[in-house]
Amino acid sequence: MVIIAIIDLLYLIISFTESKDSGSPLSPYPDWKNYTRDVFGSLQYRWQYNFFSNNYSIENLQRYCNQCSCPLVDLRYPVCKTNYAHGYDIKTHEELLALIQHRIDNGLYKKTTP
Ligand SMILES: [Zn+2]
Repeated sequence: MVIIAIIDLLYLIISFTESKDSGSPLSPYPDWKNYTRDVFGSLQYRWQYNFFSNNYSIENLQRYCNQCSCPLVDLRYPVCKTNYAHGYDIKTHEELLALIQHRIDNGLYKKTTP
């Protein structure tokens, strides 16, 4: 009986800490707030979040070279001179928002953050 009671207690503690990790109402920001860069297609992207009430938006989505991490200038990169204008997988803004949202919603962002 005592062993069962201890196991039950452990289970309660584990489930309490788990529910605390995944979006506690006491925490002002979710644990993915630091997920602000990733690689989609041929390029690296960086962005910021704007949190308001119970929602958020993705802001300042910027393209970066995935070779040298230099910011994009007209699909060219001033540092390594890679020209991404032809033959590379360049995502649209809407596609990027959907891809980022998908990785946040499904918890995939931790595995893919460079
Ligand atoms: Zn580069």
